[in-house]
Order: sequence, then C-alpha cells, then structure tokens
Amino acid sequence: SYRKGGYHAVRIGDPFSNGRYIAQRKLGWGQFSTVWLAFDTLSSSYVALKIQKSAQQFAQAALHEIEFLSAAAEGDLQNTRCVVRLIDHFKHAGPNGQHLCMVLEFLGDSLLRLIRYNRYKGLSFDKVREICRCILTGLDYLHRELGMIHSDLKPENILLVSTIDPAKDPVRSGLTPLLEKPEGNANGGGGSTMNLIEKKLKRRAKRAVAKISERRSSMVGALGGEEAAASSKSERSLDGIDMRCKVVDFGNACWADKQFAEEIQTRQYRAPEVILKSGYSFSVDMWSFGCTAFELVTGDMLFAPKEGNGYGEDEDHLALMMELLGKMPRKVLFFCLLFMFSLVIDVCLNEQIAIGGAKSKDYFDRHGDLKRIRRLKYWPLDRLLVDKYKLPEAEAKEFAEFLTPVLEFAPEKRPTAQQCLEHPWMKVVSTQNNADNVESQVKNLKIKG
Ligand code: ADP
Ligand code: MG
Repeated sequence: SYRKGGYHAVRIGDPFSNGRYIAQRKLGWGQFSTVWLAFDTLSSSYVALKIQKSAQQFAQAALHEIEFLSAAAEGDLQNTRCVVRLIDHFKHAGPNGQHLCMVLEFLGDSLLRLIRYNRYKGLSFDKVREICRCILTGLDYLHRELGMIHSDLKPENILLVSTIDPAKDPVRSGLTPLLEKPEGNANGGGGSTMNLIEKKLKRRAKRAVAKISERRSSMVGALGGEEAAASSKSERSLDGIDMRCKVVDFGNACWADKQFAEEIQTRQYRAPEVILKSGYSFSVDMWSFGCTAFELVTGDMLFAPKEGNGYGEDEDHLALMMELLGKMPRKVLFFCLLFMFSLVIDVCLNEQIAIGGAKSKDYFDRHGDLKRIRRLKYWPLDRLLVDKYKLPEAEAKEFAEFLTPVLEFAPEKRPTAQQCLEHPWMKVVSTQNNADNVESQVKNLKIKG
C-alpha cells in the first residue's frame, strides 16, 4: 500500500504543512489512511494527523469527510457535542503523490479496544450509561441540528477522550491509561502490522459467530469453554478511566436529504431496512447505537451473521434479528394490490406498518417467514441478558426496556437520540458517582475545617 496512489510513509520528526505539525508516532490506520500523533507547533499541543492515500478516489473521499467534519465543527464552537473536532486540513506532496491531510483533535482508544482490554466481559451499567450519553449527544447533534447521518457507527468509530498527556508519557503504548500495545508501529511501515490486525479482526468475528450460533443451537446459556477460560483470567480494573467519548470517522456520512450509497454501515451494525433496501434515514444510526450498547454491556456483538448451507449472510442476519426481536412486521408482499390491501388491514388492526424493501421478496414468503431459514428460536433480550450473560434480573429488565425500542424493525418507530437521552434508564444515578460525591463533599468539609 506504500506505493504511488497509496499511503504516505512517515518518519518520526517529519514536518507537515510548512513545519507546523511534527509527526510523533502512529496512532492507527484505516482502509484509506494512516493516523499519526503530531505536535502542533502553532498551538503547542498534540493533534491527530490523518493522512489519506493519494489516489484520486481517496482524495475524493477525504474531501467528502472534510465537508462533514467542517459542518460539525462550525455548528459546535464550544466543542461539547461529542463529535471529533476538525482543526485544519491541507495537502501534502510526497513520493507517492498528493495526500489530503486532516488535523483532528487528539483522542484516546476506541471502544473496541476498551471492550477487548476488559476481556470481552462487558462493562458495568454505570459505565455503559456514561458512554451512551456521549454517543447519543453526538447523534442528537448530527441528526437534529445538522441533518447528517453518520452511517458507520460502531465501537471502533467511537474514541475515548484521552486523559494522558502524550508529552508527559511519550512511550506509553495506550493513549488512555489502559490499553495494550497500539496497532501500529512507529516507522510507518504498515504491512505486517496490518496482517496482524486483520487476523485479530477475523478471529474476533469468528468468536462472535461461534457465540451467536450457540444461541440458536442451545437455549441453556451455559458458559462455553472459551468463556469459562476467559472468566478465570484475572480481573482488569477500569477505575479512573474517563468514560467520555466522541464519534469519529465521517468517511461514510451523508445528508439525510442527499444520500449517496444504498449499502451502508458495517455488517454487524447494519439496520434491517438497509439489508432489505427499503430506504433509510437517521434511525439507521440508532440501530447501530443499539448494537453498540449491547456490545458494551455483554462484550459480545449483538449480531454476527454468517453465510450457511443454502442461505446467505443477509438471511442469517435477518434470522438472528427475528430470534431476538420477534417476527418482522409484514412487509413482504408480491403484488402492489395485495400490498395496499394489507396496509389497510394493518392500519385497521393497528398492527405494525409494513416496511417492504426491494429485497423482501427474495428472503421472505408471504406469511412473513424466512424462506430458507425455517426454525428460529426466540430468545428475547431481557432473557438473553439474564440467562446467558448472568446479569441481575432487575437491571437487565431496565436495560432491555431502554434498548428494545431502539431495535424496532420499523425504522419510524425507533426513538430518536433526543428521546433516548430522556429515557428513565439514562437518568438512573450511578451508585459510584453518588459514593464519589459524598466522598468529595466530606473531603471539602475537611479542607474547609
Ligand atoms: P478510516 O476512515 O480510514 O477508518 P478513522 O478515522 O476511523 O479512519 O481512523 C483510523 C484509526 O486512527 C482509528 O481507529 C483510531 O485508532 C485512529 N484515530 C483516528 N482519529 C483519531 C483521533 N482523533 N485521535 C486519536 N486516534 C485517532
Ligand atoms: Mg474507521
């Protein structure tokens, strides 16, 4: 990838933008870019420098991302809306061509790293609530104020706000005080590291698939060997880690009234209406948010579909959704006439309104059952959380009550980010915070005394 049209090879100390930014070390990479920690000599602070591959289509994609990041920055001068801040952008000429570069505020590790660090055990409800508050604040801003759909929300694209000053701790591997070695090396050569990460990601997807198919094959929910092994490992403390985070990666964002792609979102976080190609809006981000929240609580992906004997990945995905959420509202109608007729009946019976998509009739029969995956085992969210993940009954129920509407099949029935922020589950006062408050009040009194 480090050739004409590809990545720009960076060495520590390399200057960018007429010497304003000095490269420090690699923070991460994506399909189109490498991201570097850089020192901004103008503001004397650290920033993240995203250097795009140089070929025309990548430059185009970077311009697209800059458009969305700029809009987000312009509408949020106080930088309080939980969206990564674009500080600057410029072109950089290198041996592989012209690279568009974005200068972003420097953030910490992704939620995916946090989940992994925590050995896929899931975070406490208090921590999840804090994280959800940030994500929802970001989504509410993007949706309601900017009219923007992120379209690729997932744990990897949500970064913790870093609490580490890179100047004081330049050799630390993780950016927040927690995580493993960064997924990049300092010399800019990405090849072997990338293979490693690809392997890691594949392994993770495999694990998730294994765990989810286990859901279909057994209703018992006993811990498998792998899980038992994981739980025997020593606990890792998340104390002192600030759960504030921000939404990043606007490479796939679009305006609600000006959409570009039919197929959006990363597979596991993809909403049903996208699979069925029945049109989409802001609520696709809410679906991905729901999948992310579940993953934070349990450490497992909510849906990890895979192709099987006689059915495709899409169908497996729909089956997994139906096993968790029940039957899809009737939307699979071959004839327009029949469709109109059934709509009338739906309305009369006050049933869910159908969401017919271009793909519906490929996957469903006219009774609304999947054609090629017949035997589904219904395992609703609240039971799953208790039976499989051993969460306390009352808390699981509350969380399921919060999450279930977010995972409504009918997109228009999903709550908005704003409505989610108002949900009672979001308002529960954390027991830890309470204890901290009391403690700090006592301390203050002592100081005053
Ligand atoms: P892509 O669009 O190529 O997926 P991302 O914007 O997701 O690129 O960035 C790739 C990786 O770089 C992220 O997963 C993260 O590890 C790191 N990264 C991106 N932005 C920042 C930032 N502002 N601060 C720190 N690290 C970042
Ligand atoms: Mg990304």
